Amino acid sequence: MTSKRAKKVKEASSKAQAVASFSQDAKAAMASAKMDTAPAKPKVGFYGITGCAGCLLSFIFNEDEILDLVNAVDLKAFPFIKEVNPDEQFDFIFLEGLVADAEDLEVAKKLRANAKVLVALGACACTGCVPAYRQFSLKENYEHLLYRKEAHLQDVKPTPVDEHIKVDFYIPGCPPDKQQIINFIKQALLGKAPPAYTSPVCVECRRNGNACLLDQGKPCLGPITVGGCHAVCINGGMECWGCRGPTTDMNLGLMIKILREKGFDDKFIQDRMRTFVGLKLPMLERVIHGEHNT
Ligand code: SF4
Ligand code: SF4
Ligand code: SF4
Repeated sequence: MTSKRAKKVKEASSKAQAVASFSQDAKAAMASAKMDTAPAKPKVGFYGITGCAGCLLSFIFNEDEILDLVNAVDLKAFPFIKEVNPDEQFDFIFLEGLVADAEDLEVAKKLRANAKVLVALGACACTGCVPAYRQFSLKENYEHLLYRKEAHLQDVKPTPVDEHIKVDFYIPGCPPDKQQIINFIKQALLGKAPPAYTSPVCVECRRNGNACLLDQGKPCLGPITVGGCHAVCINGGMECWGCRGPTTDMNLGLMIKILREKGFDDKFIQDRMRTFVGLKLPMLERVIHGEHNT
């Protein structure tokens, strides 16, 4: 492997780890955001760039707890539901979506400058999610889908936000687990960093008593995917597609071997693994071709 390529893989691998485990220096930012604002309520903003608003809705769907929560923080900005959204300094900004055009980039940089703590909310922000799959596709396959009418839209390579701005914390998932967002805010109110969930989806899946879909010949990515979603897809009979990102200690080679034994070809395996987190698996092609161990 060339030293340039090795450096790229190392960088991408450390970002993948950050998605799963939160960045270390963010803990200091969290403590500072709490310290500087006490006893005033922390100022919070929820914003979206290119995405489907599902992550923002995930927060709103906490109907049992949201009223208590919005009393405990100063929910200053939430353009999805509020008309007046001041442009000022925030203690916490939750950002949904990925960078897919020049305006996204501008907004992301502005929000970063306005935030003591910036949280990437959901798979689009954390990994690029499905929209970033375009990076693995031929232009003729998606060109007809690009917006033509809005002249101001300048297309850029679809990328997770940490390719452009510093991210303090990651709340993964498409959409993220609604309770995880609430728990994050509760911990933030105490000035604490939220605990990172590092076990694979299989742990929650088995705890829930599900029959294993891999055993039934279905291409479940639970063994290499960070849990914390209560194995919601498997509970509903669908296999895990890996939306919460790879675990830090995944055995990618073994996962590929198992899927091959179940009859899936390399093209299928590569496409499935790239759907949600392709940009966080820069080693995938080399592992498939036996040139890399993990
Ligand atoms: S992560 Fe999923 S739910 Fe959230 S904006 Fe992207 S596509 Fe929508
Ligand atoms: S169904 Fe998927 S997540 Fe559940 S135990 Fe099997 S491989 Fe793991
Ligand atoms: S089971 Fe897999 S695909 Fe489904 S929400 Fe959890 S991590 Fe995402």
